[in-house]
Amino acid sequence: MLLVLLAAAVGALAGPMLRARIFRHSVPAEQWVRTDCPSCGHRLVPGGWRGLVTVLPPTGRCPGCRERVGPAFGLVEATGAASFAVLALVGGSWLELAAFWWIAAAGVALVFIDVAVHRLPDSLTLSAFAGALVLLGAAALVDDRLSGFGLAVLYGLALAFCYLVLVLVYPAGMGLGDVKLALVLGLALGWFGGVVVVLGAAAGFLLAGLYAAALLVLRRAGRKDSIAHGPAMLGGALVALVVVA
Ligand SMILES: [Zn+2]
Repeated sequence: MLLVLLAAAVGALAGPMLRARIFRHSVPAEQWVRTDCPSCGHRLVPGGWRGLVTVLPPTGRCPGCRERVGPAFGLVEATGAASFAVLALVGGSWLELAAFWWIAAAGVALVFIDVAVHRLPDSLTLSAFAGALVLLGAAALVDDRLSGFGLAVLYGLALAFCYLVLVLVYPAGMGLGDVKLALVLGLALGWFGGVVVVLGAAAGFLLAGLYAAALLVLRRAGRKDSIAHGPAMLGGALVALVVVA
């Protein structure tokens, strides 16, 4: 119980930092990153590596002109707290928890970026994969689970391959960002076995369908509009982990 509360606190505290990443990357594909408030030009996120360690207020408003510059008040913090707490419930060693929190931090940023601009930037998906690979690899070494780790990497590659086929067959439905996210989620879910990978992917498609139906009913999207698939993939993975926990 204490660990779950601690996890929620860590997730909430990561919020302002994630807001800076969300702001930085919520740009069209042809633009690399953004640093200044679109309304008043106030520098919100420094360029270069310092942009990775900066924070934006949980209010979601520019300190210069008070205009909205990201998700609403407390939304990123609440999402971070909830996902970190759920992963603490799943349990495991500290190294495993670090691997899953690392993915969750990137995942929370990816959800908001994907909803805003329909993109899953490489700097977040690939850094999530690299970090998870190192941390789960270390956990495998410590706990003598190297064959399980090898299998998890294969599951990651297999799930990414399935998504790649989907993208090639129907390019309007998804993008290469989803393929890279599948690599991360296949690795994470594959750590618990192949059944969990299938469960997570299936839950992801179910959530994507529900999300699309909700957008249609609320008239927030038309039949021809592309719909962000990343949030459903991440949500499906979390659902699968809760089911096996
Ligand atoms: Zn401003």
